[in-house]
Amino acid sequence: MFRKILVANRGEIALRVICACKELGIATVAVYSEPDRNSLHVRFADEAVCIGPARSSESYLNIPQVISAAEITNVDAIHPGYGFLSENANFAQVCEASEITFIGPRPDTLELMGEKDRARREMKAAGLPTVPGSDATIEGEEQLAKEAARIGYPLILKASAGGGGRGMRVVRSQEELLVAYQTARSEAQQAFGTPDVYAERFLEHPRHIEFQVLGDRHGRVIHLGERECSIQRRHQKLVEESPSPIIDARRRRELGARVVRALEKIGYTNAGTVEFLMDADGSFYFIEMNTRIQVEHPVTEMVTGVDLVKAQIRIAAGEKLEDAAGPLDFSGHSIECRINAEDPDTFAPSAGRITTFQLPGGTGVRVDSAAYADAVIPPYYDSLVAKLIVHGRDRHEAIGRMRRALEMFVIEGIKTSIPLHRRIFADPDFAAGHLDTHFIERLVGNGK
Ligand code: ADP
Repeated sequence: MFRKILVANRGEIALRVICACKELGIATVAVYSEPDRNSLHVRFADEAVCIGPARSSESYLNIPQVISAAEITNVDAIHPGYGFLSENANFAQVCEASEITFIGPRPDTLELMGEKDRARREMKAAGLPTVPGSDATIEGEEQLAKEAARIGYPLILKASAGGGGRGMRVVRSQEELLVAYQTARSEAQQAFGTPDVYAERFLEHPRHIEFQVLGDRHGRVIHLGERECSIQRRHQKLVEESPSPIIDARRRRELGARVVRALEKIGYTNAGTVEFLMDADGSFYFIEMNTRIQVEHPVTEMVTGVDLVKAQIRIAAGEKLEDAAGPLDFSGHSIECRINAEDPDTFAPSAGRITTFQLPGGTGVRVDSAAYADAVIPPYYDSLVAKLIVHGRDRHEAIGRMRRALEMFVIEGIKTSIPLHRRIFADPDFAAGHLDTHFIERLVGNGK
């Protein structure tokens, strides 16, 4: 097992990884940017190294800085969390070359899944259904016209290197096609450094359903059930739950087995998430794979009893799945709300000093957060302030628990998405499990 791990991240996920290390008896090193000096991940790590100024490109994304912090503190592994360097194949390679274990999949897997059009191809070849679309990136107007005619409208143009809900454009008719293509390419270039885009059929009212997987270094892959993440704003998840209210045991078994087979074929290792859209007619389509721990991993932990971050570390240390994850003990229902520092009506970010931070607690309530009263939410990073997670014997109990926990969660000094979450949990469609990715648009549109 590792002696010491550097956590190349900030906020709640850095703290989450530090918790896992403490439980495993592994020493920790935090890295931080100048404005993060007083953060909890810095306070609770055994050592901390400042790696640069506020800008992510000069600190949390600065590979030489992170690697030298790891070398100075003599760690034997790096956990990248999510975002930042977590899916960066080059970073994973540099870690390997520096004889530091990267806690995640192999660099070639990161590379494969980082190119979303290539991931689609490979997963299709490995037996997963994909949304009808172009098999590769679209090069030029001629190919664009051909693909659009084949796919039909509406279609969606997606950045090959995309992520975080960015770099997507819905095209409803041929008249919009060329301008949308040009805009999508320049947006992709701006955001991800490459203009490559591909096209898929746009599903009108899909549900987002994803499978959590773990693969060990001995060729075995398991799935830990699904999460439903259909409650989204701007293609970004806001509420996640496990199990999905629409998936029955047979469907879970069938899809889960296909996911496992596909990932065993490519020799997948460590934690990952295979994302699907489910069409109104019940068909499932692979859209992408995330090769890291996800923001919404706690709901899976709550219903399986597996500590996913500890499992990641133990797998990276070479343990077999049966030891790294232990037995799966599916029970009950779990839901997570992402509490963001943002205006609940306009979704505009709301940075600033937190004056009151009153946490809910009690049976079946978990909060993953690095915030506290008097902490400053800087404007430079992700707006996530806290994840409020509940567990109940069934979905009904979990919803009741979330309602009261949201009522008792008080954050003052900044705006948060808590009022929007209260509306979601008061909504009869949500309670009935009638979900799709346009739920929030309907709620906000109708509610005002
Ligand atoms: P990202 O990598 O940016 O998260 P994804 O490919 O995972 O992008 O898609 C994010 C969300 O965008 C999905 O959960 C869904 O709401 C929407 N979306 C993506 N592809 C489609 C599609 N073909 N049809 C309808 N909605 C889509």
